[in-house]
Amino acid sequence: MIASFHPPVRTLMGPGPSDVNPRILEALSRPTIGHLDPAFIGMMDELKRLLQYAFRTENALTIPVSAPGSAGMETVFTNLIEPGEKVIVCQNGVFGGRMKENVERCGATPIMVEDEWGAPVDPGKAEQALNTHPDAIAIAFVHAETSTGVRSDAETLCGLARRADCLSIVDAVTSLGGIQLEVDTWGIDAIYSGTQKCLSCIPGLSPVSFSEKAVQKIRRRKSKVQSWFLDASLVMGYWGGETKRAYHHTAPVNSLYALHEALVILQEEGLENAWQRHAQNHAALVAGIEAMGLGFLVDKPWRLPQLNAVEFPDSLNDADVRSNLLNHYNLEIGAGLGVLAGKVWRIGLMGFSSNRVNVNQCLLALGTVLSTMGYNCDPSAATTAANAVYSSQ
Ligand SMILES: *Cc1c(COP(=O)(O)O)cnc(C)c1O
Repeated sequence: MIASFHPPVRTLMGPGPSDVNPRILEALSRPTIGHLDPAFIGMMDELKRLLQYAFRTENALTIPVSAPGSAGMETVFTNLIEPGEKVIVCQNGVFGGRMKENVERCGATPIMVEDEWGAPVDPGKAEQALNTHPDAIAIAFVHAETSTGVRSDAETLCGLARRADCLSIVDAVTSLGGIQLEVDTWGIDAIYSGTQKCLSCIPGLSPVSFSEKAVQKIRRRKSKVQSWFLDASLVMGYWGGETKRAYHHTAPVNSLYALHEALVILQEEGLENAWQRHAQNHAALVAGIEAMGLGFLVDKPWRLPQLNAVEFPDSLNDADVRSNLLNHYNLEIGAGLGVLAGKVWRIGLMGFSSNRVNVNQCLLALGTVLSTMGYNCDPSAATTAANAVYSSQ
């Protein structure tokens, strides 16, 4: 007989999922009710308002897609893009490559603007692409590239798009709740996120938001959206609220309770305070990592506080370090992706995981593992450096 599954208790300091607040796990276990139950519909309306708060938008079309971040990405691309159109895609890591793939699968042509992995998107190159391709209908970029730990200047890039009369498409899977993000003020037209990164909710949902200009573009479509499930106009028959709600698909009822709770927690803390907390824990981790003689892939102004790409010497066996941390300290950190595999670790400080205890635990565990593997460092000097940052703030 197969027994019940009980996962080990880990500390999640990788690229997501992050540690889930116990309040959210408790919300998840509340009784399942019908997805058209009036009580549930009241909760959905609150959920839309809470998402507008997190995104800083008044966009009416702001909902969680019933699937992970990748489905939010597909929702944005399949709804906005029609075959034969051109989209400028900025790529500086793994996720920009997925945007390219989405554009191609929509039957459209991606115009690539490429930057080094570890560098932000260069607004100069983006502007040049917009000038060279005035017929492009959108420019797409990743605000927080989780594969490299780099932030791009979303405000500037969206400003360029607006001046070129082009839609802006933003991947905010890792940025939402972790760093400043202003959908309305920056003029973002279509944005998608995830629940398992800085919202510290369970994986499997993807908040999205479309500006009025983006909604108009969808309304003008000549062809049907190729995905029935992700077609925003059909989904809005359930989420819309203007007309009587109709069955589209069975909403992931309990997961939505969890997201509601995650956003209530964010609202209680306050968005700015959450950004500040991420920045502070990042500063402490940086001090500790540097005290161990290790450095960072990304230049200081562009580092993401929630995702730290730490470079390590070739002499260290990457997989051994990470399995040691997991097996002996129950601590998960991320490996490098793509060209950065075997070159960096990705230490996440996302959402509920972004706290002083985790920073200390990670520095001590990493320092101890590295010492036993022959790398010369002092774990207690690392935590001393980190705690000096907390005392000074
Ligand atoms: C995690 C991530 C995604 C994909 O989200 P899933 O929930 O894994 O589908 C997309 N973009 C970025 C920047 C991410 O970090």
